[in-house]
Amino acid sequence: MTKLIPLCVAFDCDGVLADSVSSWRTLHEHFGTSSSDLLARFLAGEFSDSEFMARDIAMWKEKIPQIHRDDIFRAYAGCKLMKGAKELVADLQAKGVHVAIISAGVDLYVQSIAAMVNADDWIANGFEFDEEGWLLDQGVVRVPSKGKDESIRRLLNIIDCPSDRLVCVGDSDMDLSMIVEDCTFIGFNPSREGTFRAFAEAGVTVVESKNLDDLRPYLGL
Ligand SMILES: [Mg+2]
Repeated sequence: MTKLIPLCVAFDCDGVLADSVSSWRTLHEHFGTSSSDLLARFLAGEFSDSEFMARDIAMWKEKIPQIHRDDIFRAYAGCKLMKGAKELVADLQAKGVHVAIISAGVDLYVQSIAAMVNADDWIANGFEFDEEGWLLDQGVVRVPSKGKDESIRRLLNIIDCPSDRLVCVGDSDMDLSMIVEDCTFIGFNPSREGTFRAFAEAGVTVVESKNLDDLRPYLGL
């Protein structure tokens, strides 16, 4: 349980507010490619976020040389919110809590999730397109997946929130990088073996659920 009612709750997007494993994986499924080898090598520290994104894009372009922004939107058509997402965000905001999304996922997708839950703030990684909407070869890294603390610090600074009034919620071991000073971190809906281990080692509260209502007791609701 948190000691004080939070002033800010920062959510990861994929696997937390959105009921999807990864907005990157959704695109791989859409284009008939797989990044599981790349992901393993990325997690092992073989290359950077921006190299990972460029390699992803190159794989898709091998299948379809010209990819339009609309194709990306279409890939996300079947995606949905995690159960209880809208209500949880609305009830937090009714208590004066600032609700932010800090995601290393795809901006086009995270933006639509942020709009659906009416989040106060969001940041994510993304793509660049030419003036006609065709996907360029390099992605844009705004949130390194293992370095989310920088975005968190910027957010706390902007809204003038002390770290002990912040609660972060993530589903992956990489989300542990959201932790700054005295904040509270809650692991929600973990799925990978390495994540269970990392959450246990970090000694964080873990909520094994796909219903965001189960977070309420930890958020002063
Ligand atoms: Mg996630």
